[in-house]
Amino acid sequence: MDDYANKFQRLQRKTDANGRTPIANVVRQFLTGLNPTIAPMVYATAPATLQAAIDTAKRYEAGFMMTQPKTSNYAETEVTGQLEVLTATVQQLLRKKEEEAYPRPNSNNNRNNNCFRCREPGHFMRDCMSEKVLATWKSNQN
Ligand SMILES: [Zn+2]
Repeated sequence: MDDYANKFQRLQRKTDANGRTPIANVVRQFLTGLNPTIAPMVYATAPATLQAAIDTAKRYEAGFMMTQPKTSNYAETEVTGQLEVLTATVQQLLRKKEEEAYPRPNSNNNRNNNCFRCREPGHFMRDCMSEKVLATWKSNQN
């Protein structure tokens, strides 16, 4: 902003050495090079001189920066946050899949469901088809 104002003032002095250009035109020319968010606000204050326009623009720019804090950082924070959520979701899914593939033998779900006959988890005594038990049953039959 300071850079632009300085360049514009230098250019203005060069192109209008006699100061004949109406100040309104100079100001409008200055505003066209400004941030399009700030330019209309500066224009609305109808600055009487180029210096007034520059001062007003600087003030608005400072206020604008305050209300729009570091756009790029904000986007980064948002992306990082989304990544964290995504990572957590994926880890949760992986854990779930792992538990389905390799059920923990000592998990509470199985502890009380062990077969009373063969002590194997996953079925009740009335559904027991363990070969050990079948063998015992067969040998008892013979
Ligand atoms: Zn069993």
